[in-house]
Amino acid sequence: MTIDIIGAGIGGLTTAIALERKGFNVRVFEQTEKIKPIGAGIILANNAIQVYEKLGLKETIEKNGNPISSLNITKANLKPLSKVDLSSFEKKFKAKNIAIHRGILQQILINKLNSSSLKLNHKLKKISKNKNGYSLEFHNGEKIQSSTLLGADGINSIVRQHLFLNNTIRNANQICWRGVTEYNLPQKYQNELNEAWGKTERFGFVQIAKNKVYWYALKSFKKNKEEFFNVNNIINYFNEYNPIIKNIISSTKKEQIHATEISDLKPINKWYDENVCLIGDSAHATTPNMGQGACQAIEDAYILSECLRKYDTNRAFKAFQKLRLPKAHQVTKSSWMIGKIAHWSNPILIGIRNKVIQLTPSSINKKQFEQIFKIPNL
Ligand SMILES: Cc1cc2nc3c(=O)[nH]c(=O)nc-3n(C[C@H](O)[C@H](O)[C@H](O)COP(=O)(O)OP(=O)(O)OC[C@H]3O[C@@H](n4cnc5c(N)ncnc54)[C@H](O)[C@@H]3O)c2cc1C
Repeated sequence: MTIDIIGAGIGGLTTAIALERKGFNVRVFEQTEKIKPIGAGIILANNAIQVYEKLGLKETIEKNGNPISSLNITKANLKPLSKVDLSSFEKKFKAKNIAIHRGILQQILINKLNSSSLKLNHKLKKISKNKNGYSLEFHNGEKIQSSTLLGADGINSIVRQHLFLNNTIRNANQICWRGVTEYNLPQKYQNELNEAWGKTERFGFVQIAKNKVYWYALKSFKKNKEEFFNVNNIINYFNEYNPIIKNIISSTKKEQIHATEISDLKPINKWYDENVCLIGDSAHATTPNMGQGACQAIEDAYILSECLRKYDTNRAFKAFQKLRLPKAHQVTKSSWMIGKIAHWSNPILIGIRNKVIQLTPSSINKKQFEQIFKIPNL
């Protein structure tokens, strides 16, 4: 059986690898002519690493990334508000949380894939149903017949737009800058993710390799968002932040900073239709506030490949949706809410928020992380 996947992002590639390991033929159609390394890092949480262990990739990812042992929310001056120690999860799930350069992760995934599976320069234009399944028409003029199709083509998925009506992309009215810089972090920050919350902005940083730091910063906007795309302005928004943060920003080459508007897909309740199924961001794009978007796509890859191994296609898609939808929606909803609370501007509300974060018992934080890190054993 051949399974066709539209999109060679983290979701599409991981799903292709998982399916190939189970003996399926896979074709992955990617719109770009060349897979370009993305200039940013990514945090692969415990749940993603558990999946990569099953796919034989854990060691390579660990070797090429940096382990994170604590997730911290701090004030702008880097004074801690909350600290989640990840060591108990590392023991329980036998997996770490790894920060890694996106380009390196992408290359690791491509190296694992059967080299003939990836079809570059194939931008999907149109899907038409016919009696044998689906006819796929690409912008390069090619047409192919597909019996089983997975839409892994991201938040603006054309597969979703063709087959699933009524979906809404929500703009969070926040801009996100991401950068990677050569920077020697003080020892105490080298195995931590720190996210400093201010008023209508926040700044996160993490080491992804020796002397290499990935950082991201978000700021709310109401109008005139154009000014935020000028990367020379960023440092001005973080004047009141700890000097380390300002040094990280100023050490970054301007061409290594990328700005994106933040959005998500308002949760949809159906991810499949006959022999077509959505995975990753095309099914459940979330805001990045929990660092779980790609991790959820990676969980999809594992669960869907298991379901397709066990059941016929339509039953597999049904089982996949039942297993994955509640958790993916929970992440989307919580992440949306965190994004709003983190950017409150009223000083009284900020004071209350910070107190609540400080006073939240670590057992509650741990319980929430455990729910996210736990993956079903199939
Ligand atoms: C600022 C930011 C920080 C983030 N940080 C983290 C993090 O630390 N941890 C984490 O887990 N997640 C994080 N995420 C989320 C994560 O990046 C996404 O959830 C993840 O990349 C989704 O993967 P995907 O494969 O589903 O979609 P995508 O990565 O969007 O890939 C879709 C692919 O499909 C291709 N494509 C699109 N249309 C077509 C077409 N018509 N024909 C053919 N190909 C097509 C695209 O070129 C692309 O290669 C972050 C997101 C943002 C915005």
